[in-house]
This record gives sequence, C-alpha cells and structure tokens, in this order.
Amino acid sequence: MAIVSDTAAPTPVRPKHKGSAQLFKNPMLERLSHTHIALPVSIFIITALISLYYGFTHGFLSGVSALGLFVGGWFLFTFVEYLVHRYVYHIPATSPGRAKFQYTMHGVHHEYPKDETRLAMPPIITVFVASLLFFIFRFVFGTWAFGILAGFTFGYALYLFVHYAIHVYSPPKNFLKVWWTHHAQHHYRQDEVAFGVSSTLWDHIIGTMPTKRND
Ligand SMILES: [Zn+2]
Ligand SMILES: [Zn+2]
Ligand SMILES: [Zn+2]
Repeated sequence: MAIVSDTAAPTPVRPKHKGSAQLFKNPMLERLSHTHIALPVSIFIITALISLYYGFTHGFLSGVSALGLFVGGWFLFTFVEYLVHRYVYHIPATSPGRAKFQYTMHGVHHEYPKDETRLAMPPIITVFVASLLFFIFRFVFGTWAFGILAGFTFGYALYLFVHYAIHVYSPPKNFLKVWWTHHAQHHYRQDEVAFGVSSTLWDHIIGTMPTKRND
C-alpha cells in the first residue's frame, strides 16, 4: 500500500469498510496490534478506582475537593485527547519514518475505520501509559495526583468506549447522536477538522468545528 509520499500533503486514504491491515511482519507483534476494547477500558477504569481508593484511604482526597480534582483531571484529558489526535495521530508524513509512525498509530484506523480490533493500543502499552501518567502527575501535582489521575483515566476510558461505540454501533436517536455525527465529519468529510471525539469542546474553542454543509 502506498503510504509514503514525498510531499507534506497527507496521502488521501480511501476508507475500507471490510478487512484489516497487516502492520507488522513479525507475527507476535502483529497479534499484539489487535486489541479487544474491553482490555484498555478496564485498565483505565481500574487505574481510576485504585487511584481514588489510595487517595481516600491515605487522606489525600476528601469530599468536594476530590470531586474538583476528578473533574479537573477529566477536563485535562479532553484537551490532551484533542492535542494528541490533532498533532500526534495526524502528524504530517514528511519522511518515511513519520509516515510509518502515522499509519501505525492512526492512519490504519482511517483506512479501516470498522476494524474494531484496532481502536486502542495493546494492553501492555496501556499499562505503560497509565504508569507514566501516574509518575508525571505525582511529580507535577503532588498529592492532587490521585484525584486528577482518576478523572484523567476515567476520561480516557470514556473516550475509548465512545470511539468504539461510534464505529461499531449505529447512532442513537437522542442527544448522544452528536458523538457519531461529529466524528463522521472527521473520517468522511473533512480530515482537518473535528479532532475531539468524546467532546466537541476544544473544536469549538480552537476553531476546528466542521463547517455546515448542505447535502
Ligand atoms: Zn493482523
Ligand atoms: Zn483521525
Ligand atoms: Zn474513528
């Protein structure tokens, strides 16, 4: 497949609604690259629960401040979700190495949006990310880390679940439909907009909301 271009322009990828790409020649790595969504979702929920439990039992969290830190961590996640999707997952393919990275991390999802085994990173990487987040937050936020980490990893789990639901289930006939319509704009209409998945908040603030089109 032609994923390497010699210009900075993104290679247009036609979404396929069947099948799956091979990402690695090594069969073990290839197997690892397919993940059941329940694993990373569970890992992040468990991380949030342990973090809350530890925070409360060690006197770092209580009452309203715990709620504030949780909501703050969740809010922080929505911003990181936007930034990572926009600037890491859609990094311009300016070199073969970058093109390979972009395709492995995210391009494969744009080419095979319905491959539900490629909607999250392998569990081993999820555990690594959760641990890394803990150390960063503990360093930056001190004892606030337990509440912030809980909110952040809850937001991450919600994002993973919402993204899975968008690609696997048909849209519901209620206000939650916005999740489906917003992300469909990103996949099928305008690649350079709608980077938020679990919320449209940062697309509104930063100005990457899809333009209204008549169809
Ligand atoms: Zn495979
Ligand atoms: Zn994308
Ligand atoms: Zn998607």
